[in-house]
Amino acid sequence: MKALDELTFDNRFARLGDAFSTHVLPEPLDAPRLVVASNAAMALLDLDPAVAETPVFAELFGGHKLWAEAEPRAMVYSGHQFGGYTPQLGDGRGLLLGEVYNEAGEHWDLHLKGAGMTPYSRMGDGRAVLRSSIREFLASEALHALGIPSSRALCVIGSDTPVWREKQERGAMVLRMAHSHIRFGHFEYFYYTKKPEQQAELAEHVLNLHYPECREQPEPYLAMFREIVERNAELIAKWQAYGFCHGVMNTDNMSILGITFDFGPFAFLDDFDAHFICNHSDHEGRYSFSNQVPIGQWNLSALAQALTPFISVDALKEALGLYLPLYQANYLDLMRRRLGLTTAEDDDQKLVERLLKLMQNSGVDYTLFFRRLGDEPAALAVTRLRDDFVDLAGFDVWAEQYKARVERDGDNSEEQRRARMHAVNPLYILRNYLAQNAIAAAESGDYSEVRRLHEVLSKPFEEQAGMEQYAQRPPDWGKHLEISCSS
Ligand code: AMP
Ligand code: MG
Repeated sequence: MKALDELTFDNRFARLGDAFSTHVLPEPLDAPRLVVASNAAMALLDLDPAVAETPVFAELFGGHKLWAEAEPRAMVYSGHQFGGYTPQLGDGRGLLLGEVYNEAGEHWDLHLKGAGMTPYSRMGDGRAVLRSSIREFLASEALHALGIPSSRALCVIGSDTPVWREKQERGAMVLRMAHSHIRFGHFEYFYYTKKPEQQAELAEHVLNLHYPECREQPEPYLAMFREIVERNAELIAKWQAYGFCHGVMNTDNMSILGITFDFGPFAFLDDFDAHFICNHSDHEGRYSFSNQVPIGQWNLSALAQALTPFISVDALKEALGLYLPLYQANYLDLMRRRLGLTTAEDDDQKLVERLLKLMQNSGVDYTLFFRRLGDEPAALAVTRLRDDFVDLAGFDVWAEQYKARVERDGDNSEEQRRARMHAVNPLYILRNYLAQNAIAAAESGDYSEVRRLHEVLSKPFEEQAGMEQYAQRPPDWGKHLEISCSS
């Protein structure tokens, strides 16, 4: 266990120099205080969880203090936003404080979001509000607990600093952690600004630090791109299988490591709805739930374009061709497991599609359906779940097919089936209304609900005593919340 002043820094990105990032000091928040910290994230830095309660913790992550070895930098990147290219973006309100090594030899970027203005702030104020910081914190840690790759969050620090959005709010900072903060947009920036030397340096950096095994391949950059395609196909399969809608899949929000990155108006589905749009400024539904799959490929194509100086177009196209089949295989594998199946049959895809269609037509809760399906033997479970469906005849047909399929699947002791299914079907997810309740309390100075919700979501597959209220369908007011895109 380490104290806060014992972290070991090695700032490899900062060493790439001023073409890649700019030195900027954090702008401190007034009266910084701990809102919530993640013990699991603290452990990644070998930090004793007790240090989160010390004043120096809030000072460090509220922008008042810095380690001597930290080298705060705002990174430059660009990206395609809603399909159009924006030539210059960058950390407009976040700073990469430095890279820290833990005792296991893993390194973690410490990125402070909401840290004030930078050369990339454009029209923004460099700040993040409490509500969006809490949402990012809860979502990153909840996704990780579900087994979905994501950036992590160490803590949220609240403050008295006024910040103007639609109304006056309070500023906050979230300390984000990831093995890298490099986005597709980093490569696009150097490609479109025609800086081949820096682009090559960036590619070497990513290859050496994050894809060293690709060095052994005859074409290391191609191997790296293939790996990025694979990781994104796996990531998006998980989003789709668990009902996560990112909301702003611009290429500047896509991680080079294939992790969920940059949280805005994201949402988990309550009722299953393939056409769900969580971002209310996304009028065309470019980033609707079901569009996440083709958009994943679109974004990878944008990255491929930026890699044309290193890899032949034919090879890039071939690698992009891996995306859909890989996505489908991963998705189907997860959905089979969610249905409690241990074997594969050709018609399983249809079994899943028919179920989703029925759920869509009847507005069935996506998470609770699968959880309850595993509570009991298949025949009993479908009888109980039947009441949730409007098209009863349709559901009965599906239920017969499902029972027959479970029968063919073989060994299905009641206990094993429940354990197997509950291990992949969460009881607790970050429903928007739950986040909203926790935010409302936090905005009036009570952080207990954020902390409790974070605790519950850190063990999403385990039924927790006294936490029934976190495993319910949303009340009417919580069903169609419009989450503000200003953050
Ligand atoms: P996002 O939509 O959060 O991914 O942000 C898109 C771009 O806008 C990024 O370059 C951000 O750094 C920048 N940005 C977002 N909010 C602010 C803000 N309040 N102040 C400065 N820059 C911001
Ligand atoms: Mg972003």
